[in-house]
Amino acid sequence: MKLTKPIIRLIDTAITAQKGAYCPYSRYRVGAAVLTETGRIFSGANVENASYGLSICAERVSIFNAVSRGHRALKAVCIVASAAKPCGACRQVMIEFSSKDTELYLVDLNPTSGRKTITKTTVFRMLPAAFDPIASGLLPPNPQNLLRSRQSHRRRKDDRRRAVSRRDRR
Ligand code: ZN
Repeated sequence: MKLTKPIIRLIDTAITAQKGAYCPYSRYRVGAAVLTETGRIFSGANVENASYGLSICAERVSIFNAVSRGHRALKAVCIVASAAKPCGACRQVMIEFSSKDTELYLVDLNPTSGRKTITKTTVFRMLPAAFDPIASGLLPPNPQNLLRSRQSHRRRKDDRRRAVSRRDRR
């Protein structure tokens, strides 16, 4: 599989993030990272709790990390674990911020040998017939909804660039 530079960086970030897992109960370490349409990478690891139901998966930590900083459109998601696969809840959360093209990289990392197997798929392929916030009427009936948020990111970035060049001129 030929991987682009941003995807290699995404996978490396998820591998590093896995080291931050807090999993004294399951001892199942998971790292995740997302590449946003704005080109930023955010990561996360699973964080467990003595009250087991309060634990949260690495995928959601990484996505909430990106979204809470204003990056809502995902270009690619990467998960690292032994037999890496997102749970059903995380698949639905990924759909919320994904387009039909959002790539999903599952990196099966053998903790003893360090050997990794990479599987490439898409977020939508992993959850057919997902709950659709647009079809359900919860979001405006506009299939460009995600694209619009991407454009507003781009616009904000352009504004910042313009502000910088104005400052340079002074
Ligand atoms: Zn999950």
